[in-house]
Amino acid sequence: MGKATLTALAWHQSWILWSLLYLAVLSVGYLQFGWLGVLWAWALLATLQILRAYSKLARLLNDLESRTLKHEPSAQGVWAALETLIIRRNRENRQRISRLVQMLRGYRLAAGAMPEGALVVNRRTLFVIWSNKVAKKMLGISPADDAVRLFELFRQPQVKEWFSASNLDQPLLNIESPNEAATNLDLYLLPYTAEFSLVVLRDSTKMRKLEQVRSDFVANVSHELRTPLTVIHGYLELIEQQDNPELQTIIMEMQKQSHRMNHLVEDLLNLSRLESGKELPEETIQSSSLLNTLEQEAQALSQNRHHITVINEFNGALVGSPKDVHSAFSNLVSNAVRYTPTGGSIIIGMLHNDAGGVDFSVKDTGFGIPSDHISRLTERFYRISTSRSRELGGTGLGLSICKHVLNLHQAELIIQSEPGKGSTFTCRFPKKRVA
Ligand code: ADP
Repeated sequence: MGKATLTALAWHQSWILWSLLYLAVLSVGYLQFGWLGVLWAWALLATLQILRAYSKLARLLNDLESRTLKHEPSAQGVWAALETLIIRRNRENRQRISRLVQMLRGYRLAAGAMPEGALVVNRRTLFVIWSNKVAKKMLGISPADDAVRLFELFRQPQVKEWFSASNLDQPLLNIESPNEAATNLDLYLLPYTAEFSLVVLRDSTKMRKLEQVRSDFVANVSHELRTPLTVIHGYLELIEQQDNPELQTIIMEMQKQSHRMNHLVEDLLNLSRLESGKELPEETIQSSSLLNTLEQEAQALSQNRHHITVINEFNGALVGSPKDVHSAFSNLVSNAVRYTPTGGSIIIGMLHNDAGGVDFSVKDTGFGIPSDHISRLTERFYRISTSRSRELGGTGLGLSICKHVLNLHQAELIIQSEPGKGSTFTCRFPKKRVA
């Protein structure tokens, strides 16, 4: 029965009851005392009706306040309709609450059963509001710790910094577990309301071990290849091409390939060293001498095929590993020369950036890079055209090395490019890297 029908029926019922009552009482009044009797009977009935309405209202309010409202209406007519509607609304609310409680219980059970650790953290106070079993074990939270802050669990200062930055795309990787020795954790952040964030903890120990095995393997193979390659390279240099003119092209090709392999092995060893997590030296690197060296290298590689300009607007010093910063910048310069056709121009520059740091950039008018390749360029051996890269003496590791070096200097690589027009590679260093 709909609400409108229920109230309409109740009004009908009440009107009929009242009409019959008034008719009977007024008739008695008329028969007894004439028209004056009618007036008295009406006044009496109206007063009684008002008193009855107030007493019912008082009872209803009392029942509502003391939560003792019966499950069935105790009155008739409109009062019954009012009670029925209140009872019905109460029942609906109870059902909704029980559904919500069940859902909440389900979510809690699901979050509790997650193989990853989960923490709900208040974003303002940094207090851990809730944690699942796995998180408790990973972080050593005991049931007595009912008010513990995130940064009290992790001793590493970068955890607080990372949490406050609220950067969803940047998980915090490889953090030592405060409770389990030799266990590494990856932390992921999910701010789900303005007040609370979910922190997911993933045990990455196995993954890191596998990565270490892979990296050690590559480093060992590269190291083992170094000696035989040096020997082959040396003997090839000794073979005089004039003595064997018929073998000239073969010897030249062998020299070119052995040179390429040497380059590849050196790049692989370099990459392994950067990945090993060893601290790099912190020295002052003067922009003027660095740019001079890079210009000379670019001119030597270009052989006057390009117009090369160097701008040193920064004219100061960076703090970092001179060898690695040079190798990262040199990779970008050599790419610009190699991927820019003859007649093109290249601008190498160091400028102050808006954040108080320094931008080193290499701009060319070369082949450019289609936008769908840009995000993958820093992967190892990722090349847009493998044959062109090989032909131009590339190993496919240059940008990967560059990105690693920049990461270790808290800098970022920004790539802008338009196919057919050219590219700009920018290394953005933060303020703390300016000497
Ligand atoms: P490679 O040794 O092949 O040059 P890199 O890691 O240095 O390896 O570069 C990866 C790929 O990115 C290159 O193969 C090339 O396709 C592309 N690339 C890099 N720099 C440029 C540039 N300045 N212009 C156009 N393409 C570029």
